Amino acid sequence: MRINGTVAARLNDLGAELRPGVSLAEHTSLGIGGATDEIVLRRYDTIPQIMRLLADENIPHRFLGGGTNVLIADGELPWVVLHLPSVRPGMRIEGNAAVVEASADLGGMVTFCAKHDLGGMEGLIGVPGSVGGALRMNAGAYGTQIGSYVREVELYRAASGEIETLRGNDIRFDYRHTSFAPEDMMLRVKLELPSKPYKEILAGIRVCNEKRRASQPLNQKSAGCIFKNPPGGSVGRMIDELGLKGQRVGDAMVSERHANFFVNAGSASCADMRGLMDRVREQVHAAYGIELEHEVIVWQN
Ligand SMILES: Cc1cc2nc3c(=O)[nH]c(=O)nc-3n(C[C@H](O)[C@H](O)[C@H](O)COP(=O)(O)OP(=O)(O)OC[C@H]3O[C@@H](n4cnc5c(N)ncnc54)[C@H](O)[C@@H]3O)c2cc1C
Repeated sequence: MRINGTVAARLNDLGAELRPGVSLAEHTSLGIGGATDEIVLRRYDTIPQIMRLLADENIPHRFLGGGTNVLIADGELPWVVLHLPSVRPGMRIEGNAAVVEASADLGGMVTFCAKHDLGGMEGLIGVPGSVGGALRMNAGAYGTQIGSYVREVELYRAASGEIETLRGNDIRFDYRHTSFAPEDMMLRVKLELPSKPYKEILAGIRVCNEKRRASQPLNQKSAGCIFKNPPGGSVGRMIDELGLKGQRVGDAMVSERHANFFVNAGSASCADMRGLMDRVREQVHAAYGIELEHEVIVWQN
């Protein structure tokens, strides 16, 4: 979708940067996605006005973080993408709390906190993407989930059209699901973390890194796990038992290393990936009677 000159001028006045015709394949870990205009929200205070402008002009939009958990449609996309500018380091320590910008790198946050003897999040070390994306998804691994440590979230709330601060206790964090509304935009988070000596945290980080390296196709393009695990079950094990590792639709392939990781083994399209997901879902349903739910967020046009 292309933004016209009048709206572009308004966006500029509101301190946002318009990047026309961005290929989202270059902004996603799957390397899949069509083209659209991108709006970089360089100021938080004008976000409510920008959202009102987009609503008034009937401009559909989606929010893109690090692009590590999205499968985006091919071709010219019928919505624009909103994005926060990257910040370095984008975090500071206040006693036992870390105050972190949503666009900060999640892994960078874990190590930054570690250096200040604040631990608990070692399991999140290899989860790529932004802190905002991790909050929205309630990212987790190896028994840790980010939601457990959230004390406050500053966000643009679609319901009020304003920037608000929510207390952690007022937000529900479930398995890869949160109570945020679809159009809420995470801006900043305050995490309360347990004190732990740096060396101990580092040892935990090393263990998690090794587990990840041993089990995941880290040198291939993926979005992590494609499907959510059903209660008490492992989708990866089911897909593996069905002998589906290496299955392909075009260049979309079930990883040989981890059956719940689907990789772009060349120049896969979104249609290829959807085709593979549908095929695997049908076979799992036929064999186990389980309806798999996507963990990856699919943006269809
Ligand atoms: C190799 C690999 C391993 C992975 N391992 C794990 C794992 O162990 N555990 C796990 O939980 N995930 C894992 N993932 C998935 C992914 O890294 C996480 O879900 C991550 O938290 C997504 O963050 P992101 O910034 O990339 O979000 P994106 O992919 O950009 O977006 C994901 C969703 O969050 C929304 N979003 C992003 N930022 C914001 C924001 N600031 N405000 C509002 N909404 C926002 C988007 O609109 C979208 O709906 C893995 C991915 C890869 C590629």
